[in-house]
Amino acid sequence: MAAAGLRPYDAHMANLDPRTLRDLLHAMPKAELHLHLDGSLRIDTALDIARTRGIDAPLTYAGMRGVLVGPEQSVDQAALLAAFDLPIALMQDEDALERIAADMVVDKAGDNVRYAEIRWAPLLHVDEGLTGRDVVEAVWRGASGAAVGRDIEVRLIATLMRSHAPERNLEFVRDMAMYGIPDGLVAVDLAGQEARFPDPELHREAIELARAIGLHVTMHAGEWGGAAQVRRSLALNPERIAHGPLAIEDPLLVAELIARGTWLDLCPTSNVQASIVPSIEAHPLARLLHAGVRVTLNTDDLTVSDITLSQEYARAVERIGLTLPELWAMDLAALDAAFCEPEVAAQLQAEFVAWGAGIPELGGEDISQRA
Ligand SMILES: [Zn+2]
Repeated sequence: MAAAGLRPYDAHMANLDPRTLRDLLHAMPKAELHLHLDGSLRIDTALDIARTRGIDAPLTYAGMRGVLVGPEQSVDQAALLAAFDLPIALMQDEDALERIAADMVVDKAGDNVRYAEIRWAPLLHVDEGLTGRDVVEAVWRGASGAAVGRDIEVRLIATLMRSHAPERNLEFVRDMAMYGIPDGLVAVDLAGQEARFPDPELHREAIELARAIGLHVTMHAGEWGGAAQVRRSLALNPERIAHGPLAIEDPLLVAELIARGTWLDLCPTSNVQASIVPSIEAHPLARLLHAGVRVTLNTDDLTVSDITLSQEYARAVERIGLTLPELWAMDLAALDAAFCEPEVAAQLQAEFVAWGAGIPELGGEDISQRA
């Protein structure tokens, strides 16, 4: 059955062979909003940290890769999350955190990602005595240092874990309320095993306090439990939802997302790995976009999903059926959704538009998705 709203390639795509498409998508300036630090370790760096810290891990490239890259399809989200256990064990000191954050920014800049929001859960990195604040500061030193001279803007999102006691998450946010928000941090997120910890309401106090002190709010939802979990998350008023593709199955929810202007930061490859959707081709990205929901396209995890943003973009065109102008409009719109200062987003958007203006395949300055 053809997915509703799936479109054939436009006429202007006919002359674009796959190689040319890949070159274009690589060169395209991109914004990425849903990206986990602990799911994106370079294999070489992971090997080096494991060796120098004496951490129990495979000590060959192939062995390490086998542990860090997730299966193409897991039983469910909980099974896919096992791929994060070793990365978290490797990220327990400031040097490791700094280096891994710097690697990620270098890799993103190399893929012409010009704006990236990097997220991870600071409280998963305190086993060796760091505080949550120490962890955020180390990641920011690595990320901001690597961004210098690389034509990329970076911001950080602190993920609160569903599996952590609400008091711990609240304590982390309270520290920021009392002593200030660390440099680079722009938002909080809620993530983790959704089947075991389905109720975001438990973390309302931490989330409300984060909002009150000026942080943006995003939440993972619908990695388990489908549209009902997405609806449940809306009670906490997130500006953006990480994932939530199965919202498409509930027309009233789609209408509510549109009315609220809530963004879905979608990651088709990762969603297939977590068995939320059966295949890339079946991913509702295009259907949500055509229905009028505000969506962005992201990798989720560079290493766990073994993919770059350029490759994810290519899959959206070749396997989901987005046209290039639609993809380009979505990329520009991600800067409307960005949690950085509005003037930074506006400047980047102007630079993106100037780049795209010379490329007829992108449909000029069609930014129809924008509000
Ligand atoms: Zn995610």
